[in-house]
Amino acid sequence: MGFKAYVDDIVEAVVTTAKGMRITARYGVDAKEEVTQQYPEERRETDDRFRGILHNDIARCTSCTMCAKVCPVDCITLESVRGADKKLVLVSYDINVMRCMYCGLCVEVCPPKSLVHSGDYEKALFNRGDFTLHFVHEDGDAIKARVAKQVAEAAAKAAEAAKVTAPAAANVPKSDLSAVAPEGAKAEPEKKA
Ligand code: SF4
Ligand code: SF4
Repeated sequence: MGFKAYVDDIVEAVVTTAKGMRITARYGVDAKEEVTQQYPEERRETDDRFRGILHNDIARCTSCTMCAKVCPVDCITLESVRGADKKLVLVSYDINVMRCMYCGLCVEVCPPKSLVHSGDYEKALFNRGDFTLHFVHEDGDAIKARVAKQVAEAAAKAAEAAKVTAPAAANVPKSDLSAVAPEGAKAEPEKKA
């Protein structure tokens, strides 16, 4: 390295340092230029499209399992049972947020849009087990027992109704069977061979 190049390097170092110090000084004295956020007292507002920790509004979830099927890393698990009205009742719905990569596929496919990304991004915990979020807080066995009872009651009611209808139908001449048909029901037109 020649003497001139040596001097040029020194000059460049001094000029670069001066530029950097000028920016530092500007941010240091001008309150409007403040960039440091006093976290956690101050929290950054998240954008509407921000993919934060998942949240499922289980009152709207239909237990369709599409979110669990589409998840590439299998972090959603759910269990449901068929209720007396033939609709599925959630027994459990869990998301392992430690495994989640926030791809958003599950949110995209959810038909009732009950599954959403929240604006929450803070999930520092001490125990690995705490990273699994449970959205159904009632005991699973209690839910199953309740639903089974409702299904049994509905079946008993249906059987009772059938018993009441059957003797009435037996006493009515065949031509008048439409008289015991439930209210609003229409007689089927006879099918031709
Ligand atoms: S955001 Fe992606 S990785 Fe996370 S639960 Fe949904 S599908 Fe799975
Ligand atoms: S896709 Fe939506 S409705 Fe279906 S099980 Fe998942 S959260 Fe529930």
